[in-house]
Amino acid sequence: MKSVVLGIGSNIDAEKNMKAAAELLRKEWPTIRFAHVYASAPMHEVHQDSFLNTVAVFEADAEATQIQSVLQSIEQTLKKDPPFKFGPRTIDLDILLYGEEHIETQTLTVPHPRLQERRFVLEPLCELLDENALHPVLQRSYKDLLHDLPPQGCERTNVAL
Ligand code: AMP
Repeated sequence: MKSVVLGIGSNIDAEKNMKAAAELLRKEWPTIRFAHVYASAPMHEVHQDSFLNTVAVFEADAEATQIQSVLQSIEQTLKKDPPFKFGPRTIDLDILLYGEEHIETQTLTVPHPRLQERRFVLEPLCELLDENALHPVLQRSYKDLLHDLPPQGCERTNVAL
């Protein structure tokens, strides 16, 4: 059994699509737990609407690649179609962590390579996991990684998933 941590984000009809994604994820993994939803400005391509993001965790026996296939089919259901890299999207579902495993293939990198750069990932992640636990590759606590980040305009919202 692995503890699987997902990153979830949207900046097109964000509240509606976050809720729709949560419902589809709950159907697949009924015990999934969600952190609060955070609102943040876009990081890479700044001329687009702001994002809603959160993190979710569940326990699973499935391989990471099987989980990724489920996430991709949910993204298709919610019509993810960004016009360019880091562009606007109805939904983005990433595997952030798969237990303590380090996976590096052409189609899957876990832990997610940009996890430690993003306050909108680390803030909700620290709500769900032990913030003193160590990132399996960087060997630094999530709390310390969060502490090192600049403000990045990331605000907790009242959106309930
Ligand atoms: P994006 O649309 O920016 O989320 O990128 C999706 C692509 O990232 C897909 O082609 C995946 O194969 C690849 N990918 C690599 N690592 C991960 C991960 N940890 N979670 C989800 N997708 C990943």
